[in-house]
Amino acid sequence: MSEPQDTIFSKIIRKEIAAQVVYEDDLAIAFKDIHPQAPIHILVIPKQPIPKLDDAQAQDAALLGHLLLTVKHVAAHLKIKDGYRVVINNGENGGQTVDHLHLHILGGRHMKWPPG
Ligand code: C5P
Repeated sequence: MSEPQDTIFSKIIRKEIAAQVVYEDDLAIAFKDIHPQAPIHILVIPKQPIPKLDDAQAQDAALLGHLLLTVKHVAAHLKIKDGYRVVINNGENGGQTVDHLHLHILGGRHMKWPPG
């Protein structure tokens, strides 16, 4: 299990660095990815600094559910048409580069399968 780090996402939560925030509540914040991989690319993150999905515990179940419902809420708010993809990269081989759990919302184009 990884210890929580003070990452770039912690700084976004604390408003120490700017981000294009599209949604925020007590538990989560959603903002535009700075290197979008699709016409719409949003990151949804918990304010609690869980490093990666593998570090989530049973007591985080409600928070994890809240993050998925936040994805749905953000997608509806942004009026993403014809579907979207939700991605969680977990750990090095999963392609995770920021050690703060985040859900990617990718939309605005047709997604290929399988992902690379
Ligand atoms: O899943 P992964 O860890 O690779 O995703 C991290 C994401 O965070 C990347 O898509 C990257 O573009 C994004 N990012 C960001 N703003 C930052 C730093 C990283 O949107 N300041």
